[in-house]
Amino acid sequence: MESEFAQAKRFALDAVQGDVKNEYTESLTTAYKLLYLIAQKQRDFQAALAYHEKYMAADKGYLNEVSAKALAYQTVKQQVLAKKLQIDALDKQNRILQLQRALDKKAIETTRLYIILLLTVLAFIAFVAYRIKRSQLSFMRMARRDGLTGLFNRQHFLDEAQRQLQYCRKSARDACLVLIDLDHFKNINDTHGHVVGDEVLKRAVMACQAHLRSTDVFGRLGGEEFGILLPECSLERVNERVEQLRLAVAEIPPSDALCVPVSASFGVATTVFSGYELRQLLIHADDALYQAKNSGRNRAVVFNDTGDMPQDGMRKSRRGTPMVEPVA
Ligand code: GH3
Ligand code: MG
Ligand code: MG
Repeated sequence: MESEFAQAKRFALDAVQGDVKNEYTESLTTAYKLLYLIAQKQRDFQAALAYHEKYMAADKGYLNEVSAKALAYQTVKQQVLAKKLQIDALDKQNRILQLQRALDKKAIETTRLYIILLLTVLAFIAFVAYRIKRSQLSFMRMARRDGLTGLFNRQHFLDEAQRQLQYCRKSARDACLVLIDLDHFKNINDTHGHVVGDEVLKRAVMACQAHLRSTDVFGRLGGEEFGILLPECSLERVNERVEQLRLAVAEIPPSDALCVPVSASFGVATTVFSGYELRQLLIHADDALYQAKNSGRNRAVVFNDTGDMPQDGMRKSRRGTPMVEPVA
């Protein structure tokens, strides 16, 4: 029994010796506990007390170390968990950013589609507006123009002539009104047919247009009668200009479509004698035209204030004047 205690004490002391200094382990604690119990059994109370103190210190140290390790383990575990959560959070943030980017991309695409849609609608509206404007202009043009010759119709001619006269009155410039009536046109129709008659009308218009300025107002008053307002045309110049027109009509070259001699008579009124009222100019130009017809056709007469113009009663009879062969 005694030797077992001695053997146990030796093992315990070996364990104490073999332990690393300043490090509390379970074996150290057990060794001190054994030494303390052996000393107590051997009634060596002083040694038992000393071993008991060491046993307590080792036990406490060991427990401290164990709990420190457990704490460190828990801390590291928590840190790992925190890191994991942080990584998860970053992952989620990343995912949110990716979704955000995808949303932004979609928003840009949607905006782009809206812009394209808007531009398409605008282009369509512009196209429709353009078509409407074009047909409006075309209708306006049709309403103002004569279908056969393309000249201003009677009403538009009168409006434009009035406008030009006002301009001339304001700027104190002379203007002349010329009335043109094709000679024996009914004969042409009766002899060669209306198609040739229409061709004559168009050729006569083209012949006159070749001698007009851009500011001159040319219109078809009806049938084979035309009117031209010559703004800024003096009394001295008008004879020369109207003579040009007369010759242009009389010298229309014959062609396959047109093989008839054509001529026209011209009645001219000037603001010098008739003033700037269109109505008065028309009356005086008509009087002059009557005289041109009566004195043989294919000629121009300028109204003057010498009083040798035909009287009202005679003017009315012009419409029924017997036809005379045109001057060659
Ligand atoms: P005058 O020398 O006295 O002016 O005689 P005229 O035959 O030219 O005059 P009148 O007024 O007797 O005849 C005009 C004719 O013009 C009658 C009409 O049939 C014809 N006319 C009117 N408009 C048109 C038209 O657009 N085309 C054709 N082909 N003829 C037309
Ligand atoms: Mg006539
Ligand atoms: Mg005529």
